[in-house]
Amino acid sequence: MNKFGFSIAHTRSTDLDTANLGKAEELLQRVPSYKLCIGCGGCTAACTAGLFTDFNIRRIHTQFARGQYKGLDRRLQSCMLCGKCLLVCPRGVNTRALIVEMRRLLNNTDPA
Ligand code: SF4
Ligand code: SF4
Repeated sequence: MNKFGFSIAHTRSTDLDTANLGKAEELLQRVPSYKLCIGCGGCTAACTAGLFTDFNIRRIHTQFARGQYKGLDRRLQSCMLCGKCLLVCPRGVNTRALIVEMRRLLNNTDPA
């Protein structure tokens, strides 16, 4: 059967009082413009990697902000750091820096 249209997302909730937000708070320190994100999805719509894979940069940085880090390091490998998402963001979020810093924080590869 052909897949068509959209699917309904499962209901889920995040308890931010108990979530592990250490890395998310560090990310906000490193890329302050992320505070301006309105979740519009422009970055995902423009993303070349997202055209050919299930890579979704908005979903990834939203999950990161909620402390849901599991599996994100592997998914971030699809990003080519081309910067298209940065060009289209209506809020001026430095998405490219966001991706680089998420990778560093998830892989503990901070510069010395
Ligand atoms: S385009 Fe910018 S404001 Fe919109 S979801 Fe992406 S980072 Fe957030
Ligand atoms: S930098 Fe990464 S997330 Fe942004 S458009 Fe390019 S491949 Fe997509």
